Amino acid sequence: MRDIVILGSTGSIGSQTLDVIRERRDQFRVAALTAGGSNIPLLAEQILEFAPPLVALSRPTAVQDLQLALYAAAKQRGWATGEMTLPKIVAGPEANLEAARLPCDLVMNAITGAAGLTATLATLEAGTKLALANKESLVIGGRLVTDKAAPGQLIAVDSEHSAIAQCLRAGRTQEVRRVILTASGGPFRGRRREELTEVTPEQAMKHPTWNMGRVITINSATLVNKGLELLEAGLLYDIDLDLIEPVVHPQSIVHSMVEFHDGSTIAQCSPPDMRLPIALSLSWPDRLANASAPIDWTQAASWTFEPLDHEAFPAVDLARRAGQLGGTAPAVFNAANEACVDAFCAGTLSFLGIVDTIARVLDEHVANAENPEPAGGDVLSSRPRGAGLVGADRVTIDDVLAADAWARARAADICA
Ligand code: NAD
Ligand code: MG
Repeated sequence: MRDIVILGSTGSIGSQTLDVIRERRDQFRVAALTAGGSNIPLLAEQILEFAPPLVALSRPTAVQDLQLALYAAAKQRGWATGEMTLPKIVAGPEANLEAARLPCDLVMNAITGAAGLTATLATLEAGTKLALANKESLVIGGRLVTDKAAPGQLIAVDSEHSAIAQCLRAGRTQEVRRVILTASGGPFRGRRREELTEVTPEQAMKHPTWNMGRVITINSATLVNKGLELLEAGLLYDIDLDLIEPVVHPQSIVHSMVEFHDGSTIAQCSPPDMRLPIALSLSWPDRLANASAPIDWTQAASWTFEPLDHEAFPAVDLARRAGQLGGTAPAVFNAANEACVDAFCAGTLSFLGIVDTIARVLDEHVANAENPEPAGGDVLSSRPRGAGLVGADRVTIDDVLAADAWARARAADICA
């Protein structure tokens, strides 16, 4: 029996993790569930079904709502009050960390965005295996995260990175020549830049092959997600960013590939269903039987590949630049994006404005490092902390958090 903690259980990855566990109750037990607090009825249902001893909510005001929802859901099931064991409920911005530090076999971090960083660090510090869906925490923390991870402690959940891990089993590290990171291309694949000016949030939310949370869906339309994934792959597998090549594959069946130095390319293929990489992450390196439906070879099918149009979708090159700058630059790339996604969804920023604004904020971050000193002024007090790039050799968690806060505020300013 393996005890699993799920951070962000009400989201797309969190719910699918519970789908995997639901079919295997003899192998997995839910030790804790955490959520932001925006979908209390779903959380209540999950608690009644999986009976976790601990539940954590980020929004303290949601606790009472949860208690009421639990009673309502129990009543709907015809349960008497005594039949329900209430979990311990903790709340507040740090509540996640109590769950992350719980002694258990594995923590699934399925929180969205930079908000997942502290939980990633807490899990690694507790020495627990971490299934990391929350790529943002790895990207912004960089070496601060990978240095904390013992060999084998960090397990990929992202379909591409799970694919890469599976392909890497086919050869030795020193035999790897390139990693081919596949991308669906998102809903606007094939459009030129000038054909993207009028794109609405509603159109961007219609992903052709995957059904995911709001931020990653918009990120897939701008290709920012592929940029984050490029940095994620570099960090997870210690691969030079120039050796990772994004390739558009609209069918999302080949989840990524590894090319070895003899000219052989190994691919991992399966229909687009996150339950496969999620299941593999829960039991890595072993596979769980029937995690998802396999490819149906009785149907005629074509798998196509095309180069990425970097002019229409400059996000991957921009992420690569942030990765090569290192230090606080990836945190700025990510935080500016999170603020821009909010602005785009609120209707105050255009679709093309998302990546243009990230580029501008990143440029300012670099420029602030080059010219930090206003004439005669006290550098530290006259400049908002985190405004200037801090190099990889001396970056701390405080630098990352300060850069994140600055970039978020700066991007929001530009959007307003
Ligand atoms: P989602 O928006 O559907 O769910 C996010 C979850 O995190 C929710 O339970 C929410 O309550 C919780 N949450 C949000 N903000 C929080 C905060 N400040 N503190 C604590 N909890 C908070 O997102 P998702 O699509 O499930 O994605 C989760 C992560 O997995 C992201 O990093 C995403 O990039 C990654 N990912 C998702 C998919 C996918 O298919 N959905 C695929 C690959 C990677
Ligand atoms: Mg992915």
